[in-house]
Amino acid sequence: MIPVLDLHTHTIASGHAFSTLQEMVAAAAEKGLQYLGITEHGPAVEESCGMILFRNYRVVPRMIDGVRLLMGVEMNILDYEGSLDVEERYYGLFDHVIAGIHGRSFRPGTMLQNTDAIIGAMNNSRVNIISHPCDGTADVDLEALVRESVSSRTLLEVNNSSLHPARHRTKAGPNNMELLRLCRKYDVPVILGSDAHISYDIALYPYLIPLLDEVGFPEELIVNNSFSAFERFTGVKWSDNSYGEI
Ligand SMILES: [Zn+2]
Ligand SMILES: [Zn+2]
Repeated sequence: MIPVLDLHTHTIASGHAFSTLQEMVAAAAEKGLQYLGITEHGPAVEESCGMILFRNYRVVPRMIDGVRLLMGVEMNILDYEGSLDVEERYYGLFDHVIAGIHGRSFRPGTMLQNTDAIIGAMNNSRVNIISHPCDGTADVDLEALVRESVSSRTLLEVNNSSLHPARHRTKAGPNNMELLRLCRKYDVPVILGSDAHISYDIALYPYLIPLLDEVGFPEELIVNNSFSAFERFTGVKWSDNSYGEI
């Protein structure tokens, strides 16, 4: 199957990524993607854009060169209750929300505390995806997250970027393998995320494909192959939330 979506990517607006929105869309179109999620970092990543850019998402056409855009945010999980770094009154600005633990804005606690933090975010109805739960920043009970995934309608991400060998995240490989095994066992879908910080990396998953192969992970549990599978699981519908199309 050919992937039709990549819903975790960053542009220069995130402050440490390299491509413009136009470059990201052009690369997505060239790769034949039908859906591209732009998820700039939330304000706890201090070099990121801040709310003023999110408030201006309406100027972005949601359909460019045959690619449907979801203008979103990667919020930061801040504490063991799963509080996020964007106030609820702003949630209407986003087509799509992902949330994750980042080392700069989360103090890892016990496995139970870290797991509660993620489950708290999963139970926020606007959060569609937990980004890189397996990257090893905080130890978590993956079985508890997989069980929560279906009831909270929140996908767990298998993140290509955290598996990059140069990042030396030694726990990311084994943790992602465990996640895949648990999802296969409980018949729970996952989403692959490129976490691209440059246009060349969109929809590329070179470091996680060997893990999928080793686990024998079923293609039908990978939502990247079908936007309707993503819609059904999360309840998110694509719609044109801009001033119009180009
Ligand atoms: Zn980043
Ligand atoms: Zn990201």
